[in-house]
Amino acid sequence: MKQNIKIEIERPLKELIIEVLQRIPVKLLSIGIYEAKWSDDADGEVDEENNVLLNSKILNKGKNYAMGVIVHELAHRHLKHGYLSRNFKNKNRGGNEFDEMDADLLACDWGFKKEIRIARKNYIKIFKEGFEKLEKNNHLPLKTKYKKKQEKWFNILEEGR
Ligand SMILES: [Zn+2]
Repeated sequence: MKQNIKIEIERPLKELIIEVLQRIPVKLLSIGIYEAKWSDDADGEVDEENNVLLNSKILNKGKNYAMGVIVHELAHRHLKHGYLSRNFKNKNRGGNEFDEMDADLLACDWGFKKEIRIARKNYIKIFKEGFEKLEKNNHLPLKTKYKKKQEKWFNILEEGR
C-alpha cells in the first residue's frame, strides 16, 4: 500500500484511483490528485505542477472507462508530461499526439490494455487526423522513430474492432 497519497476527492473515484495505484509498478510517495471541473468534457489532465486532475464525470461512463482515464493520467504524470511537454514541445508539431501515444503505451505496459481501449474509443479518429496532419507537414520524428510506436498504439486501440 502506497503511503501519503494526497487525494482530495470523493469516495467512489478515490477507490478506483487506489485500485489503479496498487496495480502499477511505480512508487508514488506523494501525489496530488484532485477532482477538477472543466467547462468542456475533458476527462482528466496533468497540470504544470504534475498534479493529476480528474473529472468525476468519468464514473458515469463505467468502471473500466474511469480506470482507463486514471491510469492514462498517471502515465502522463510518470512521464512528466505536465511540466516537461508543455514547456518544451510545440503542440502544433505533434507534442500532444506523441504524449497521448506514450502515455497510453505505458498504461498498456502496466497491464491496462482493456481499460485504455475502452477509455480511448472515441478519440481514435482525432488522433488519426492529428497524425495525418503531421505527416502531411513532413514532420520528421513521426517518419522515423515514432512510426513503429504509432502503429503499435493504433493496433492496441483498434483491437477486436
Ligand atoms: Zn492524455
